[in-house]
Amino acid sequence: MTPIFPGSVDAAGQRATLGVVGGGQLGRMFVHAAQRLGYSTAVLEPDAQSPAGLVSHHHIQTGYDDPAGLAQLAHLCQAITTEFENVPAQALQTLALTRPVAPSAAVVGIAQNRIEEKAHFAACADVSGVTCAPYAVLETPAQLQAVLAERADLLPGILKTARMGYDGKGQVRVKTAAQLAAAWAELGGVACVLEKMLPLTAECSVLVARGWDGQVVSFAPQRNVHVGGILAVTHAYAGNMPAALAARAREAAVAIAQHLGYVGVLCVEFFVVDDGSAHGGLVVNEMAPRPHNSGHYTIDACDASQFDLQVHAMAGLPLPQPRQHSPAIMLNLLGDVWFDADGQPQEPDWYAVLSLPGTHLHLYGKLDARAGRKMGHLTVTGPDIAGIKTVARRAAELLSLPGLDAI
Ligand code: ATP
Ligand code: MG
Repeated sequence: MTPIFPGSVDAAGQRATLGVVGGGQLGRMFVHAAQRLGYSTAVLEPDAQSPAGLVSHHHIQTGYDDPAGLAQLAHLCQAITTEFENVPAQALQTLALTRPVAPSAAVVGIAQNRIEEKAHFAACADVSGVTCAPYAVLETPAQLQAVLAERADLLPGILKTARMGYDGKGQVRVKTAAQLAAAWAELGGVACVLEKMLPLTAECSVLVARGWDGQVVSFAPQRNVHVGGILAVTHAYAGNMPAALAARAREAAVAIAQHLGYVGVLCVEFFVVDDGSAHGGLVVNEMAPRPHNSGHYTIDACDASQFDLQVHAMAGLPLPQPRQHSPAIMLNLLGDVWFDADGQPQEPDWYAVLSLPGTHLHLYGKLDARAGRKMGHLTVTGPDIAGIKTVARRAAELLSLPGLDAI
């Protein structure tokens, strides 16, 4: 891969341009990072008012698999990435015929399908040292019958659709065989996995960036708290989890990325389970082939963010090991914040929040706030952990955020 230099201009007078398929908030923060370095950007997104499309030099407003739109993206850009998991892998394949695409259609395809994803985790368990939760594949009525008859060990469990799940969508918790059968029918009998419900003591994730040349860097694990299946709080500071466990998670995530031959930013999510050992056991949950909500704190707390590394990796630039300069807590801001206790629309009290020291507000430019919709996030940084906890708690109170007891 020949590096694509930021700010360079070709013979036709066109500035080096990086492209992204998808126009959500991850694309927006990618665009910000690319533009800061001096690249032009192009976003392929059907929505006229998307978070990334609103801030990009070019917005190609077509479907993700529209041949003309893809051709235009390839024409404009020297390299292309994606910002959401459910991008049609075929679209990335088409783009890769003429342009460097990172991550590749093949690895995005694996991460899009829980069945393939778990098979990958199993295939590299020897090098990663972690396995996933016990599970069974449910693709046919015969497999359902077999699981009902033979896999009582997986109950209580969570039935998850193999494809298109996010933020806890496409998941049903089941306690009994009858509930399992009903839940599979309710999901339309599509390909699923039934996962055993594990006693989680914590959750964490690790961000890895890997270049075309195999160079790899990673961030320390962040500890994540979910409320209602959606990330609510991320704790990113030394001591957020036992050091031995953090080291294992980081090594496992790097091994998983290496084994995939991954290029770009990969986020690997882990469960910490009570297995009777001193620090608990580590179980790999899933991976996202892109920057991740749990890594947003890196923008304000590190000398290179997950989006900076996404830009560097795809453009063939060096990947220096990022350094976290401040402890951080990230609070997700869902659409609920724009409604009062009676469900009436309200403007959040940003004046009060922004008067707290070390608060960094990121709103994604979405016009309509809806319950559960990711509208933005607030990162709190400061010189010490006790101080950021105090500020984060106060901000969470002011905004009536969930997960207050987890700060
Ligand atoms: P996202 O895309 O937001 O990461 P998702 O929809 O892909 O979420 P998962 O990560 O599989 O879903 O699950 C969402 C949350 O549900 C997990 O973070 C965890 O809190 C809980 N959960 C999922 N699987 C299990 C399990 N086997 N045992 C216990 N809790 C689980
Ligand atoms: Mg998840």
